[in-house]
Amino acid sequence: MSQPSQRKQGTCARCRKTTTIPARYLCTSCYKAVTADGSRDDWPRYKRAAADVVADVERLRSQGVPWAPIAERLGYASPKTVANTYRQAKRRMAGVS
Ligand SMILES: [Zn+2]
Repeated sequence: MSQPSQRKQGTCARCRKTTTIPARYLCTSCYKAVTADGSRDDWPRYKRAAADVVADVERLRSQGVPWAPIAERLGYASPKTVANTYRQAKRRMAGVS
């Protein structure tokens, strides 16, 4: 079976369907549902551990890779998303909440 190189496929953490997972482990309809019911922040932003994100980002940044290809390589929707995730992960690792 060949992998289509479209959007990220995965298993939704909420309904367990294998589909396109645009954010936080969740499929589009679950993402809308948790946004509507206010439980969105209970779901992880991304499946990668904070330390891994920081390590990956710092390795790529040290090679002079811009944010856009980093986002693409790490599976984030946009450069802004990966930059925010990186900053939040750094903050969390520094023990600031
Ligand atoms: Zn779902």
